[in-house]
Amino acid sequence: MTYKAEYIWIDGTEPTARLRSKTKILPDGADLPDWGFDGSSTNQAPGKNSDCVLKPVFSCPDPLRGGDHKLVLCEVYVPDGTPHPSNNRAKLLPVAEKWAAQEPWFGMEQEYTFFKDGRPLGFPERGFPAPQGFYYCGVGADEVFGREIVERHMDACLAAGLNISGINAEVMPGQWEFQIGPGGPVEVADQMWMARWLLYRIAEDYGVAATLAPKPVAGDWNGAGAHTNFSTKAMREGYDPIITACEALGAKAQEHIAGYGADIERRLTGMHETAPWSEYSYGVADRGASVRIPWQVEVDKKGYIEDRRPNANCDPYVVTRLITDTCCSALERAGQV
Ligand code: ADP
Ligand code: MN
Ligand code: MN
Ligand code: MN
Repeated sequence: MTYKAEYIWIDGTEPTARLRSKTKILPDGADLPDWGFDGSSTNQAPGKNSDCVLKPVFSCPDPLRGGDHKLVLCEVYVPDGTPHPSNNRAKLLPVAEKWAAQEPWFGMEQEYTFFKDGRPLGFPERGFPAPQGFYYCGVGADEVFGREIVERHMDACLAAGLNISGINAEVMPGQWEFQIGPGGPVEVADQMWMARWLLYRIAEDYGVAATLAPKPVAGDWNGAGAHTNFSTKAMREGYDPIITACEALGAKAQEHIAGYGADIERRLTGMHETAPWSEYSYGVADRGASVRIPWQVEVDKKGYIEDRRPNANCDPYVVTRLITDTCCSALERAGQV
């Protein structure tokens, strides 16, 4: 007998990479071998020397095919055995390793927007729906669009063993969020990519495209972000490290903005629950700041911070690498580990 392994990888599309996948039939019980693909079709190789290598790095039960079938997230390598330049996971690994003793944890909030027939689900054929105000965490057919897909996606994530911690309807019709975490940087980033693949794949069954566009509709409509909640052991035990982390993120604001997803300037305008991309700020309970300290964290004098800047279309491997490196090195310098 055999099982199906869906090999999933991140391509080389610029400026925002896309997911690709294909199926390998394997004998029952067989390990997951390396595999290959045509990199000239994924912006990962020139046509004349186009072989790229898929190395399985994280696998889980396939909740859609069921049985013993598997989903297999891969890193992309070139045939000489080095990571492909588009392979951001390989760049995260040494940083995660270096700071592992500080026990960094992440919880990422993935916002996204369903599209059908070229417009967000719930938008009328002409014109616009009623303005924002009732859609966020709404209920009822006049306020909520796509719930069946969202429920199926949540169940699929759970069946796959992913650490999904919740879902909610967002501020614009057809806009939703799921959260992954808390967990280590590599674990959460791997699971974010796997959960994205499941979302696209399940929405496909409904003729709906799930998109991570950071500003899917221009004008007075919320963008889509990937708020990234972060703590280290020291931050979970005291308040000074919380402030050190907030200050450290400010000192490297430009580098972080550059790694938080394409078109971030269009989303971080200072309107719609965002801080302007060019001005770093942090504050308690402030959803208009770049980085929020939740009010409960100020009361408890320990906990975590929320970096509200990453775009929905960010690469979680890049975001977790930047935050881990910036905050953990500052905490070490401050002697607060
Ligand atoms: P919001 O109020 O901003 O919408 P959510 O409930 O959507 O927040 O997401 C909060 C996220 O923070 C969850 O994914 C949760 O796992 C994560 N989280 C909670 N505690 C910590 C912590 N100590 N360190 C890192 N992440 C955390
Ligand atoms: Mn949220
Ligand atoms: Mn949200
Ligand atoms: Mn949030």
